[in-house]
Amino acid sequence: MIDVVNLHKKFKNLHVLKGINLQVKKGEVVVIIGPSGSGKSTLLRCLNRLEEPTSGEIFFKDLSITNNKNDINKIRQGMGMVFQNFNLFPHITVIDNITLAPIKLKKLKKEDAESIAFELLNQVGLQDKTSSYPTELSGGQKQRVAIARALAMSPDLILFDEPTSALDPEMVGEVLEVIKQLAAEGMTMIIVTHEMSFAKQVADRIVFMDEGIVLEEGTPEIFFKNPQNQRAQDFLKRVL
Ligand code: ADP
Ligand code: MG
Repeated sequence: MIDVVNLHKKFKNLHVLKGINLQVKKGEVVVIIGPSGSGKSTLLRCLNRLEEPTSGEIFFKDLSITNNKNDINKIRQGMGMVFQNFNLFPHITVIDNITLAPIKLKKLKKEDAESIAFELLNQVGLQDKTSSYPTELSGGQKQRVAIARALAMSPDLILFDEPTSALDPEMVGEVLEVIKQLAAEGMTMIIVTHEMSFAKQVADRIVFMDEGIVLEEGTPEIFFKNPQNQRAQDFLKRVL
């Protein structure tokens, strides 16, 4: 699904990603963990070209994302993204948030886009919030709408950047539950999170990053029980 080859990203003199290699297979759930500032968000943002990679290559379903000849907007349609701060459009209702992209980009008829949106709202437990505005929702509800919005484009892959970090503790569970359900249905996902027990449960593979480098990766069983890298050991001591 995704193949990242020797990816570098610099912001002026700041060398943030220093040669990332990462493969994600169809149906796989990869959880990226690591200290704050290690480049996790920058990596996700390079995957859908919200950031321009400095060098290296990224393939999505065998199409080069880094080759400007390929239509990045078309490629992005296959890749959902869920952000820490929800990024819902505040001035339109929940249902309009979800149907906007399918109508505009996929050229779906309004009725068809809405019937898909109803189904998705049902799936995330928000069928009664169709006509609400984002300001009328709790953080957990906003994030579930954001997930429904990503799903409305029928993506092949969803990227999650700390989807529960902005939530009050009592709302974390409801969002993680929705993501677990997606994992069980076979959705391909790359998830950056600090929720270690969730990571253990949902990940097929854990990727540990620090200072722009992947220092270790492995199944959760092996990684959490017996991390080899010293910095991974120190990180786990702090967060577990
Ligand atoms: P993480 O998500 O792991 O906390 P980030 O990818 O957000 O880390 O940031 C990695 C480093 O890149 C940090 O030092 C951050 O300040 C820097 N950085 C991120 N985005 C930008 C930007 N747009 N311009 C300059 N520096 C940035
Ligand atoms: Mg981040």
